[in-house]
Amino acid sequence: MIILSTKYVISENEERTAFAEKSKDPAFQICLGICFAFCCQMRYTITYSTKIQGFHVMKISEIFQTKKTVFSMEVFPPKQSSKIDTIYDTIERLGDTNPDFISVTYGAGGTGTGSLTAKIASDIKNTYHIESIAHLTAIHSTRAQATEVLKEFRDMGIENVLALRGDLHPELPVPGEFQHASDLTQFISDFGGFDICGACYPEGHPESADLTSDIINMRTKIDAGATHLISQLFFDNNDFYAFLERAKLAGINVPIEAGIMPVINKSQIERMVSTCGASLPRKFAHMVSRYENDPEALFDAGIAYAVDQIIDLIASGVDGIHLYTMNNPRVAHIIYTRIKKVLEASNKA
Ligand code: FAD
Repeated sequence: MIILSTKYVISENEERTAFAEKSKDPAFQICLGICFAFCCQMRYTITYSTKIQGFHVMKISEIFQTKKTVFSMEVFPPKQSSKIDTIYDTIERLGDTNPDFISVTYGAGGTGTGSLTAKIASDIKNTYHIESIAHLTAIHSTRAQATEVLKEFRDMGIENVLALRGDLHPELPVPGEFQHASDLTQFISDFGGFDICGACYPEGHPESADLTSDIINMRTKIDAGATHLISQLFFDNNDFYAFLERAKLAGINVPIEAGIMPVINKSQIERMVSTCGASLPRKFAHMVSRYENDPEALFDAGIAYAVDQIIDLIASGVDGIHLYTMNNPRVAHIIYTRIKKVLEASNKA
C-alpha cells in the first residue's frame, strides 16, 4: 500500500511538471479554453433542455395525474396595453412560488383584453416556462370569432383553455351561437388540440334555480369534454365539501380545484359581495367588522384566513388550490411560504 501510494505521488508530481510545461504553449492554452467553453455550453444545454422538456409534456390534465395536490394561480391582463410590463413583473415574481400553472382571464366578450390574454398566456408558457391556461368567454361570440381565437391560441403554443359562458355585457351583441359554457366546451373539443377546463360554483351559480340543476348543468360541461374544474371563490370550506359530495353523486369524477381568494382590503370585500355572491360565514364577517378600518390588521387577518382555509382543504385531500392572486405577488408569496411544507407533504404522501 505504502509503495503504491509513493509511486502514485511520484507519478502525480511528474505529471504536474509536464502539465505546467505544456500549459505555457499558446496552442495548448487555446485548446484548453475551447474545451472549457464547450463544457460550460453542454452543462447549460443539458440543464436548460431538461427543464424545457420536462415542462413541455405537461398539459393540465397530465399535471393532475402526476400530483396529489396541484397549486395554481389566476392573473388578469392589465386594463391598458401600455401597462403590460407590470404583468410580466408579477408573473416573474409568481414564478418563485412554483405554481403548476397560471390561468389568464378573458374580458367579457374579449373586450379590450382578448388578444392580451393570448399574449400573456403564451409568454407564461414560452418565456417563463410555467404551464398556462387561457380563459375564453362565449356568450358574445360567434362560432367564426371563436375559431379565430382558438387558432390564435394554437399558433401561440397555448394548449389549455378555460371554457366559459361569461357574463352578459349590456353594450355587446348576443349572437346566440353559444348559450352555455358547455356549448363552447363542445366546440373546443371538436376543434381539437386543447385540454379544456370548466368553472364550477360550490354555492351554486347565482342564476341557477337550485343546486341540483346547477350540478346537472355542470355534468353537461364534463360530457362535452372538460377534463377538470376550477371553483368560484368561497369562504366556508363546508360549502365546498358539500359541493364535492353532490358532484360525486352526479358521477362527476374529474379533478376539482378549490378557488381561494385572500381578502386583504375593504374595497375587495364590497366588490366581491356584489359580484360573485359568495356567502360570508360568521368567522369571516367577524374578522371584517373587527379590522375593516385597520388596513394592516385586515391584511394579516385576511392572509391568515386564506391560509387556514387552504391547509384544511389540503389536509382533506382536495385535488388542487387555485389562488386568485389579484395580480399581487406579495400576497401570493406570503401564502406560499406558509403552505409550502403542507403542499410538499401532501405531494410526497
Ligand atoms: P355556465 O356553465 O354556462 O353556467 C351559467 C348558468 O347557466 C348556470 O346557472 C348554469 O347552471 C346554467 N346552465 C349551464 N348549462 C346549462 C344548460 N345546458 N341548460 C340550462 N342551463 C344551463 N368571466 C369572464 O368574463 N372572464 C373570465 O376570464 C372569467 N373567468 C372565470 C374563472 C372561474 C374559475 C370562474 C368560476 C368564473 C369566471 N368568470 C369569468 C365568470 C363567469 O364567466 C360567470 O360566472 C358566468 O356567469 C358563468 O360562466 P360559466 O362558464 O360558469 O357558465
